[in-house]
Amino acid sequence: MAKAKVSKELSVEEKLQAMFRLQKVDSEIDKIKILRGELPLEVEDLEDEIAGLQTRVEKLETELNDNETAIKNKMIEIDEANVLIKKYEEQQNNVRNNREFDALSKEVEFQKLEIELCEKRIREFKAKVEELKQSLENSKALIEDRKEGLELKKVELESITQETQKEEDDLRLESEKISKTIEERLLTAYNRIRSGARNGLSVVTVERDACGGCFNKIPPQRQLDIRMRNRITVCEYCGRILVDKDIEIPLVELEKQLQLEREKAEEAKAKRTKRRTSRAKKA
Ligand SMILES: [Zn+2]
Repeated sequence: MAKAKVSKELSVEEKLQAMFRLQKVDSEIDKIKILRGELPLEVEDLEDEIAGLQTRVEKLETELNDNETAIKNKMIEIDEANVLIKKYEEQQNNVRNNREFDALSKEVEFQKLEIELCEKRIREFKAKVEELKQSLENSKALIEDRKEGLELKKVELESITQETQKEEDDLRLESEKISKTIEERLLTAYNRIRSGARNGLSVVTVERDACGGCFNKIPPQRQLDIRMRNRITVCEYCGRILVDKDIEIPLVELEKQLQLEREKAEEAKAKRTKRRTSRAKKA
């Protein structure tokens, strides 16, 4: 589904919270992928290599067949030449003159040369056959070796996948669910930043006055803007979306907490003043 249906218009704060949650879920998926590491790629590489070797073996086998057929053909040619030689030699017994005899001798000579040529070609084809057989053997051994490696990697990958599959499936569902609440434009931006970032982080919190993605300092005014949650702010260095580290707590809740803290502070202050006045009275 390309177009996600956004049921109600979210506030900027809610959008930021949704993206932050999406980031958390996607980062969990990333962690599982890291756990699997290079294994899926290694399996793929081995499968490609084996396929390539199998194509090579097929080609070598065709070439080998062609050369063996060529040898057979040359041997047939030799047989045919021998038949002719025998025929000419018999004819020489019945010649009427020297001219006819010489002509037949030339034919015999020619056929003998043909045979020599065929023998030379056969030697060449045989050398080629040996070479091809060697290559074929090497390629087949290589295939066996790679197949063994592939089996090991597959078993390893499968055991890791089995352990994490359920978790990953759940996370993917969750990621999809959250994605559907985010408008397409923002989701596109989120995905673009995420795929461009090496650690897969698209939404980061402000940590110790710095961007949690690239660790560059963020000016106080900008930090204040981020805390206000009125608009989407991106880091001017790395382009990641910035949120305050309390983003999961709604602003109203934060304000309540702040209010409570202020009240407590006031109370404490009042108590201190009271104690001081009573001490002053006693004195
Ligand atoms: Zn940054």
